[in-house]
Amino acid sequence: MKFVADRMLGKLARWLRVIGQDVTYGPHLSGYGLIREARREGRLILTRDRSLTRKNPPDYLLIQSDQFREQLKQLVQACHLEPFKEAFTRCVECNTLLVTIAREAVEGRIPPYVFSTQQRFSFCPGCRRIYWPATHQQKMLEELKALGFGSH
Ligand SMILES: [Zn+2]
Repeated sequence: MKFVADRMLGKLARWLRVIGQDVTYGPHLSGYGLIREARREGRLILTRDRSLTRKNPPDYLLIQSDQFREQLKQLVQACHLEPFKEAFTRCVECNTLLVTIAREAVEGRIPPYVFSTQQRFSFCPGCRRIYWPATHQQKMLEELKALGFGSH
């Protein structure tokens, strides 16, 4: 399943990427721009814009809440997503799938403290960011659990 998020749904889009979902999002994505992107790439539209329904859109999901936690819950339920299954497999910034990268390859490209304390690293071929499982991932997992999503 692939999504395109309305430009008002930036926080939701980032969280969907955290749980591994393929989401495009950007300032140009509203109204007909959103519809064009959805058609071109076969994506489900996520929007809070009720007027969009009058523009003959392809499949869409009208997001009810303006709180990202409620939005994420709605989406997980409506689309039967499994938040923990593919968490941290996708770049939060540019939506590219991450690849694992050898520890030696990241030396000098990340802070020395991180290099000396972390063992596993992922790399984004899209924007060349390097990711590692540190405290922010732990916080995100706790947030997902707090939302009531089970870890299995
Ligand atoms: Zn990236």
